[in-house]
Parts: sequence; structure tokens; C-alpha cells
Amino acid sequence: MTTTRRTHVLISGAGIAGPALAHWLHRYGYAVTVVERAPQPRTGGYKVDIRGAAVNAAQRMGVMGAVRRASTDMRTGAYVDDGGRRVATLPADIFGARVDGDDEIMRGDLARILYTHTRDDVEYVFGDSITSLADDGTGVDVTFTRTAPRRFDLVVGADGLHSTVRRLAFGDESRYLRHLGAYISAFSVPNELGLDREELYYAAPGALACVYSTPDDAGAKAMLCFRSPRLAYDHRDTDRQRALLADAFANAGWQVPGLLAASRTAEDFYFDGLHMIEMDRWSRGRVVLLGDAAHCASPASGQGTGMALVGAYVLAGELAAAGGDPLTAFARYEAEMRPYVTENQRMAENFVPQMLLGSRRAIRFRHLMLRMLPHMPWKNLVAKKLAEDVQRGANAITLKPYASPYTPTTWEPAAPQPAIPEPAALCAD
Ligand SMILES: Cc1cc2nc3c(=O)[nH]c(=O)nc-3n(C[C@H](O)[C@H](O)[C@H](O)COP(=O)(O)OP(=O)(O)OC[C@H]3O[C@@H](n4cnc5c(N)ncnc54)[C@H](O)[C@@H]3O)c2cc1C
Repeated sequence: MTTTRRTHVLISGAGIAGPALAHWLHRYGYAVTVVERAPQPRTGGYKVDIRGAAVNAAQRMGVMGAVRRASTDMRTGAYVDDGGRRVATLPADIFGARVDGDDEIMRGDLARILYTHTRDDVEYVFGDSITSLADDGTGVDVTFTRTAPRRFDLVVGADGLHSTVRRLAFGDESRYLRHLGAYISAFSVPNELGLDREELYYAAPGALACVYSTPDDAGAKAMLCFRSPRLAYDHRDTDRQRALLADAFANAGWQVPGLLAASRTAEDFYFDGLHMIEMDRWSRGRVVLLGDAAHCASPASGQGTGMALVGAYVLAGELAAAGGDPLTAFARYEAEMRPYVTENQRMAENFVPQMLLGSRRAIRFRHLMLRMLPHMPWKNLVAKKLAEDVQRGANAITLKPYASPYTPTTWEPAAPQPAIPEPAALCAD
């Protein structure tokens, strides 16, 4: 059945996946509302890679030029010892393991680009969050913390690792979250080392501290990772998180004491586990998950942003290709994305022990290998192998050329579909 009413999609989360999906849905003729918990677009943050299929997706969106203009343009990276001496510099062709066309951008810059690109075509509601979802098979009734209840045709959870939509529609996060045995913290610090597009790493057994500077930022960013089993803390209690970080790095040398001191006052302090989200399915009825909410591969994958951009392209494309039929579209979206997601999650899992070496001996050996590498005949082979490994994940999907533009029609099922069977889908926040 075709009507003139546009299909109205609610997206929860204005990070990377949400605005990217909003772009495509608008292009295909959908009415889109994005609800974001933060009071305004979230800027700042760490640097993220755009590689392989994600470059392709960003090009098709028309934002790759803006991404390149905001590139971190990093030059080099080096390991330092306790005294700050550069003990091993990464050869340029190994640093970042990028190939032509790949780029790196601050996450906040990318979020800003995507928001600016879509804000005139899409309704953004900031400072609000979904509290309940009730899917009756023909639409979803949604309540919010702040604004009045509304009804939507489809709801997309693009609200990140700790997704509210996932909890409401699929149940508690503990059912899907796998801890990879480490924690990560990221925050702004003064650029006391005078870095210029350089990244310094300091390794201790089971821990890694990293500081880098990017263009257009008078300060620098710190990123600290450490091995640990699951820790108990309240996600709102940043004082406790700062204390956990300080404990983990209590014996570390180099600039780490200064970084910990800076963490105490950093307004953009971030702390979370290296977690993976593993789910058997990403949709239930008219509710579907996207990006980290569906399949977080942890920051160790270096592919979370790419998968968010690619997933948005595929989900919108499959909706358009299925004439708006959500059940067909969601099944195809998942079939397209699964192998790509699985490959990147596997890589992240393997990368954690390599990133956080367990002993001083292993760390010294890595420094030695890196120092010797530029003089070795097999240097090019190592660089090639590293790039191939990284590219395998980034290119583990080929983007289909979806028909465009989709004519705006409201898809209605021939007969009303059964409501979501599980009460979890109807629960309140
Ligand atoms: C320290 C660190 C380093 C990283 N490095 C890389 C890297 O090098 N390369 C890479 O590709 N990826 C990296 N990532 C991962 C990358 O940031 C994520 O995978 C990516 O941002 C996922 O996009 P998303 O839109 O799915 O989720 P997010 O970017 O997390 O966006 C989710 C949005 O939803 C909002 N939200 C949350 N809850 C609600 C709610 N209840 N209601 C409404 N809105 C809500 C949030 O405020 C946020 O704006 C890194 C992550 C971290 C933490």
C-alpha cells in the first residue's frame, strides 16, 4: 500500500552512525528525527581512522573532502623509555599502517562534519533520551525523558556501546558485552612536550600511555590503556574512574604522573573498558541497532568509526532497496554487515595482547625489533604485511550500489505484523 505520508524514522544517538544514517535516509525520502542525550553535538575526543570501505562510504556521502581538510596529518610515532628518550621510532610506512586514500580525523571533528551536513534536513532533539518503546507491528510508540511521547515507523539505536535502545528492545547489556581484559582512558592535556603531529608511546608491563598532538590544537591528547579484569564502578562516578586509572599507573615512569595529574581536571575525561558487543541479531520488529550499539569492536579495532559509516550506508540502502519493508531490509543489512563486523572484532581481540605486552622483556624486545627494522632487508615485507592485515578488516565488505533516490512512500505490511513478543521490548527506562 502506498500513501503520501513519509516514513518517519527515529534515530537515537547523534555520534557517527546516527547522523550518517540520517543523511542517507533523508536522501531516500524518509522523515528523520535524531534524539541525542548530550545537550549539544559532542566535540573533542580522540583520533579515529577512516579506511577502506569507510572511505568509499564517506565519499558517497560527499563528506570525504571535509574529512581530509580536518585530517590529523600525523607525521610520526616513537616509543620512549622512563626518561623520555626516543628508543624506537616507527618507520613512516609502518606508522598508522595507512594506504593511499585512508585518513585520520578527530572523532569530534567527524561528528561535527556529519551533524553540519545533515542538520538542515533532519530534526535534531538534543538533551533528551528514549525511556520506553512499544512496537505494535505497525509502528513504535516512544516516550522520552523530556519531550512528549511520539509515534514513529521505525526506531534505530545508534546510541553507542552502552545503548539505551538495545537495553529497551533486547535486554540488559550484560547479555551482549564481552570484556577484552583491558581499560582505556582518553583526555586532553597541556602540550608540555611540545609535540607537533607526533605520537609518543610509553609501555610498561600490561600498560601503555600515549600522548599526541594534532593541528589546530594548542594542547595535546593522552590515551592510557591497561590490562585488568572487569572493575566495579559507577559510569557516572568519574572520580572513582580517575582513581582506578591512577592505581593502574601508580608505578609508571616518563610523563605519566603529570598525565594522571592532568586527568584530574580534564573536562573531557573518558574512561571505559575495551568491550565488545556480540549479538545474534541486530533487529527486533521495527527496532534496529547500528554502529557500536549493535557490534562495538572496542577501540582496539581502530574500525568502529568505519563500521558506523559503512553500516549507515548499508542499512539505509537496504531499506530503500526493500521499498521500505523493514523486516526484509533489516535481514539484508545484517547479512551484508556480518562478515565485515566479525573480521574486525576478531582483529581487535588479537590486537589487545600485542598492544599491552605483559613483561619488560617483551617490551625491550619490541623496541629492539623496531630499531633494527629500518636496516633489515625484509623491512618492506613487514610494512606490507602490517598494511595488509589492517586493510583486510577495513575492506571486508564491498559496498553495493544501492538504487537512489528512493521515492518517498510509506511502506505498510499487507497485514499487521505481530507485536514484539518479548516484554523487554516494551519496558520503560
Ligand atoms: C578512546 C577511543 C579511541 C578510539 N579510536 C578509534 C580509532 O582509532 N578508529 C576507529 O574507527 N574508532 C575508534 N574508536 C571507536 C569509535 O569512536 C566508535 O566506534 C564510533 O564512534 C562508533 O560510532 P557510533 O555512532 O556507533 O557511537 P558513538 O560515537 O559512541 O555515538 C553514540 C552517540 O549516542 C549518544 N547517546 C548515548 N546514549 C544515548 C541515549 N540514551 N539517548 C540519546 N543519545 C545517546 C552519545 O552521546 C553519542 O553521541 C575509539 C573509541 C574510543 C573510546
